[in-house]
Amino acid sequence: METRIELIAGRCVTLAPAVRRIVAGNAGMMTGPGTNTYLIGTRDVAVLDPGPDDARHYDAIRAAAGAAIRWIIVTHTHPDHSPLASRLAQQTGAQLIGLPPPGDGRQDLSFMPQRQPLDGECLSLGEIRLRAIHTPGHASNCVCYLLESQRLLFTGDHVLEGVSPVILPPDGDMAAYLHSLDKLRSLDFERIAPGHGAVMADGKDVVTRLTAHRLTRENKVLLSLAQLTAATLDELTPVVYDDVAADRHRWARLTLEAHLIKLAGERRAAEHNGRWRLNRP
Ligand SMILES: [Zn+2]
Repeated sequence: METRIELIAGRCVTLAPAVRRIVAGNAGMMTGPGTNTYLIGTRDVAVLDPGPDDARHYDAIRAAAGAAIRWIIVTHTHPDHSPLASRLAQQTGAQLIGLPPPGDGRQDLSFMPQRQPLDGECLSLGEIRLRAIHTPGHASNCVCYLLESQRLLFTGDHVLEGVSPVILPPDGDMAAYLHSLDKLRSLDFERIAPGHGAVMADGKDVVTRLTAHRLTRENKVLLSLAQLTAATLDELTPVVYDDVAADRHRWARLTLEAHLIKLAGERRAAEHNGRWRLNRP
């Protein structure tokens, strides 16, 4: 397991042959130690998730690359992951790879991909091969990338270290998220390189635990609805998230809404005039 000391902004750490990581200087409540930018390849370099448009981070990436940056790949277009992509592409001529930003008002609209990987497509990037796996849920344009030679899966914010990703409706979709977690089970990988936090050695177990966590939370939503009979999102949030610090409830409320939308889609809950209740048979 990695030590926390390595997650320092600007430091370049080798994680596997031809895989390095630089953490951006944007540590915070939603970004943990900061966004992880990965440099993949040595003769030609692919930059995965360049991060925020920050001059120091830009300089750190250029200094560490040590070879031509030929590709810039993004896992999704939340503003902590992709804004540096356009400047980096302008300066290096690198190809932009990823899916375009959805229009939910939470995205980096400056990201305009030149190549949109298909689900399951294997990208041949110089000496490296990366398989793209579409994993909508945290955002609708989330893509994980599997470096098959190292059995290393880059997950962006689909799977994070130590925390459960937020799901922000309407673009974030809980049903899609759980389906995307299931999809990872069939892949041959060992370690996970997340969008924030350290590399996780037991990748499959992490995915299993994350699914269990979401289903436990869903169960708590159902129990809370049964207990309160009918409740608004504001009333439900502190009950469903009584184990989460109050300063995180603003975000928890959005993930709760994502749970409720999933339950409504399954006809297990329904909303009327802002109040949610169970759908009893
Ligand atoms: Zn995100």
